[in-house]
Amino acid sequence: DLSFTEGRVDFQNVCFSYTAGTEILSEVSFTVMPGQTVALVGPSGSGKSTIIRLLFRFYDVQGGCILIDGQDISKVRQNSLRSYIGVVPQDTVLFNDNIRENIRYGRISASDQEVEEAAVAADIHHKILSLPDGYNTEVGERGLKLSGGEKQRVAIARTILKSPRIILLDEATSALDSQTERNIQASLAKVCANHTTLVVAHRLSTIISSDQILVLQDARIAERGRHEEL
Ligand code: ATP
Ligand code: MG
Repeated sequence: DLSFTEGRVDFQNVCFSYTAGTEILSEVSFTVMPGQTVALVGPSGSGKSTIIRLLFRFYDVQGGCILIDGQDISKVRQNSLRSYIGVVPQDTVLFNDNIRENIRYGRISASDQEVEEAAVAADIHHKILSLPDGYNTEVGERGLKLSGGEKQRVAIARTILKSPRIILLDEATSALDSQTERNIQASLAKVCANHTTLVVAHRLSTIISSDQILVLQDARIAERGRHEEL
């Protein structure tokens, strides 16, 4: 199978629709260089999350191609692609197991201590300790109730633990208090420093700190550049 090394992402003339006749992406092209952070912004429904889903291959493109380190992802086994990428979705769904395993997910060799360090970095450790069974608290239909932001921090902890070369972050639209936001940004900056990051950004602080901003509008990238250029 193919293997990745650097973490460069290329969208080349990518076209995509969910249903015939409604084009969501029309010949979208951009590059994220290894180690860069690129912010995707644009109106609701403009296709930001779709770009994340395509890169993780929830769907295949209908025109053009997506390359990672020069390799067409449609020709790469899904498992190896997904082991290389960490996704923090807009709406995180936790699975039926305890909170520790929800963070450990996929990294069975990670120790309990490593799980907790990741939770500290994602600013969710104290919340977990406040739960009746701490890290052993079961997440389930009748179980744990976490807010959207808290669930997303669990997903961030999972991603920190996985430490993938490419991180896809679909920021929750729900507002976080500014202290939590600063904490998360600091830990993501730490984990993202040597990682390529594509972030759907709703927060100005995320946008300001990114290397490049892509503005999606009417199925195309309407503008691109750094914050001070736009
Ligand atoms: P938001 O800022 O609200 O999260 P977004 O830019 O992430 O918006 P997408 O989720 O990428 O938007 O959706 C782009 C368009 O595709 C929207 O019009 C949406 O309704 C449509 N869409 C998304 N998922 C599907 C799907 N599974 N089937 C059909 N249409 C979809
Ligand atoms: Mg979205």
